[in-house]
Amino acid sequence: MKKTADSNPKVYRNYFRQRTANQWHKIEAEVGIPGAIRPFLAGNWKMNMIPLSGVALTARILDICRGIRDVDIGLAPPHTGLSTLADYIKPDFLRTEYGLGRNVFLLAQDTFFESKGAFTGEISPEMLGAIGVDRVIIGHSDRRANLGKYYGFASSVARRLTDSFLSDKLKKLKAKDGADAQVIATLEYLVAKENHELLSGLTRFLEEELRERAGESDQSIQLKIQAALGQGLQVILCCGENREARLANETFSLLDRQLRMAFEVVSPRAVSEVIIAYEPVWAIGEGAKPATLEQIKEVHDFIRNLIMDLYGEQTASNIRILYGGNVKPDNIVDIMNISGVDGALVGGASLKANDFASIIRFGLNT
Ligand code: PEP
Repeated sequence: MKKTADSNPKVYRNYFRQRTANQWHKIEAEVGIPGAIRPFLAGNWKMNMIPLSGVALTARILDICRGIRDVDIGLAPPHTGLSTLADYIKPDFLRTEYGLGRNVFLLAQDTFFESKGAFTGEISPEMLGAIGVDRVIIGHSDRRANLGKYYGFASSVARRLTDSFLSDKLKKLKAKDGADAQVIATLEYLVAKENHELLSGLTRFLEEELRERAGESDQSIQLKIQAALGQGLQVILCCGENREARLANETFSLLDRQLRMAFEVVSPRAVSEVIIAYEPVWAIGEGAKPATLEQIKEVHDFIRNLIMDLYGEQTASNIRILYGGNVKPDNIVDIMNISGVDGALVGGASLKANDFASIIRFGLNT
C-alpha cells in the first residue's frame, strides 16, 4: 500500500475529531474520557465457522487481547453461530476471564425487515435482538451485488425474454378480460419477426446487467435499516463502489446515492446508532489489493462531509466510518492513521486469531 501523509501522522486509540480549515483532524483523548471516539474493529466471518469453531476462534482472539478496553471489538458469525457466541461473550465472563469491558459486540451479517410471517429462511431484527445481537451489518456488497449471480435472477429473466415464452404469454393475455393494453402491444412488438434481433439484444443486455447487480436494492436496505433501528439494534451500513464505477469516475455519485437513500430513513436522533463501513467492492477478498491511503482518505472525507450536510458538524465529527477491503495486520496502522477512519470491517483476516488480534491491537507495541 502506497503511503501518504495525512494531516495527522500519529495513531490514536481514542480521540476527538475536529474540523478546521475544511479538514478533519483527530485529537488524542484520554482513554475512557466521555465523548471520545473509540475505534471499532469488526470481523465479518461470512459463511464460515460452525458454532463451536466460532467460540474457539473467539477464545484465541480474546486471549491475545486481554485487558484491551479502549476499542470496540465486533464479531459477526453466520446466523447459526449467533446464539452460541452470545452465550460465550457475556460481559461478566469476559471481565473475569479476559479483563475486558463491555466492548465486545455481537454482530449479525444481515436481517430481514419484516418482524414475522411467510418469509422462509429470513430472520427478523426482533429475533436477533432476542438472542443478544447488538449490531447488524446491512448492505454488504456480497448481498448488494454478488449474490445476484448465485441466485440466478439474470438467467430467469433471460428465459422469459424468448420468442416462444413471450408468444405464449401474449396468447394468454389476449384471452384475459381487462389485460393491460400497453403490455399486449409491447409483447406484440417484441415477438414480431422483424424485431427478433432487438429482442435478443435486450435479453443479452439485461442478463449482463442483472448478473452483477440483482442483489439487494437501495430500497430494501432502507427498509432493513428502519426495522433494525426500530428494534434497538445498531446498524453497520456498508457502502462502496464496484470497479466499473471507480474506473468511470462515478465513485462519488454512487456513494452519494447509496448514502442519501439509506439516511433518508434515519432521524437525527437515531443517527448515533449508525456506523458506516466504506468498502470498495474491488478491494474486497482474497487476491484483491486494498484501496490506497489517498483513496481511503478522499472517500472518508467525502462521506463525512455528506453526513455534515445531512445532520450537521457535530454528528459528522462523531459518526464512525470504518474502512473495509483487505485490512491486514501490516496495513491497519497506516489505515488508522487516516484522520477520517474510525476502524475496520475485516473479512479474511478476521478468521485468523493472530491476524485479527493484531488488527485489534493496532498501535500497541506489545
Ligand atoms: C469484507 O468482506 O467485508 C471484507 C472487507 O473482506 P476482506 O477483508 O477479506 O477484504
